[in-house]
Amino acid sequence: MRKKKLRLLVTKYCERDCAGCCNKDIDLDALPVAQSYKGYKEISISGGEPLSDMYSLENVIKKIKRVNKSAKIYVYTSRSEEFDQFRYLMRLKISGITLTVHNKSDKLNFYKLNTKLADDFRPFREASLRLIVLKGVNIDPDIFGNGIWHLKNNVEWQEKCPLPEGEELMRVDWAVEDRQRDPESEEFQEIREDSEFSSEDGMRRMFRQAVTYRIVRCTILRRKFYVND
Ligand code: SF4
Repeated sequence: MRKKKLRLLVTKYCERDCAGCCNKDIDLDALPVAQSYKGYKEISISGGEPLSDMYSLENVIKKIKRVNKSAKIYVYTSRSEEFDQFRYLMRLKISGITLTVHNKSDKLNFYKLNTKLADDFRPFREASLRLIVLKGVNIDPDIFGNGIWHLKNNVEWQEKCPLPEGEELMRVDWAVEDRQRDPESEEFQEIREDSEFSSEDGMRRMFRQAVTYRIVRCTILRRKFYVND
């Protein structure tokens, strides 16, 4: 019988190349390829580093949503420097992000990310943000004790990456995803243009929206004072 949770690998690549990474012991190519995303209650997207290939990640999320609207989708990452990508994932309406902070050199990036999140939390209001801090990293709990993260602190490094009970492990079809990743393809260009956060035009649009919002707000406040007078 099919299990209710799927752990889905979208890429083998991860730039970190951590010693003891369990991906090195698994023959990722030999994993079963996910043929359908129907019937799962939860799909956790992992890798490698899923954020290393936003195009494939977005592609997979959209495919899942087309056939299984109720599945909760979580993305697992170790990139704490990618605030814009986190925001972009929220636009794809995923259920949450799990970030792992591996070592002390990640701390500064994580603190910066946390500040940006605190300043611009609106897109993340509905999401579950889980933070896994590996043992020895020593992040100050006061820094992230701001209600943003569900924290698991001092987590032991797990060499074998045991699959949690009730989950099954599969991968996307690398060959298909690679073919679709052609940066010159029309589909790729459309997705790039669709991203407000990756284009200058998008930045201009966001700036215009912010200015319009402020003007409208000032007008409403002025009217309010005028009526109160
Ligand atoms: S960050 Fe994770 S996937 Fe990447 S090399 Fe390290 S353990 Fe492996």
